[in-house]
Amino acid sequence: MKYWSYLAAKLMAAVALAFWLHRCVQFAFPIPPKNRYGYRPSLFLQDMGFTFAILGVWLVATGLFALVIWDQRRRCRTCLRRLRMPITLGSWSNMMMFGRPQTAWICPYGHGTLKRDDVQLDVQLGAFSTSSWEPHGDDIWKELESCGSREK
Ligand SMILES: [Zn+2]
Repeated sequence: MKYWSYLAAKLMAAVALAFWLHRCVQFAFPIPPKNRYGYRPSLFLQDMGFTFAILGVWLVATGLFALVIWDQRRRCRTCLRRLRMPITLGSWSNMMMFGRPQTAWICPYGHGTLKRDDVQLDVQLGAFSTSSWEPHGDDIWKELESCGSREK
């Protein structure tokens, strides 16, 4: 819940910033006079400077949303800290035997691990389809003991 609330807060901040930029561009350009039919024509697609300024606002807003999503994907689901220590799992040369290579990031406080496939299938299947979050238990010694029992 904390993870999704943080994403919603960042998205709302990005929307507010984009809306503020849009309003700044609207105030920067003069209001056109009424035409003979009694209404004010829109500046968009009529005034080149205004149209390019709106294009710039749209590009900045798109970049903000992409930055918010990119940053959120690399955060711990429990404590919201940035995930660290990326390691590569698997092997490209033995991909058919052991599966696709992955990159794993861990929370510095041990809350979990994010694994993401290095094969770029996410372009076709969606960005969230190839990454998985695995929460760790509270007792690190229990996990270490289970690792030792697997080797026997
Ligand atoms: Zn954490």
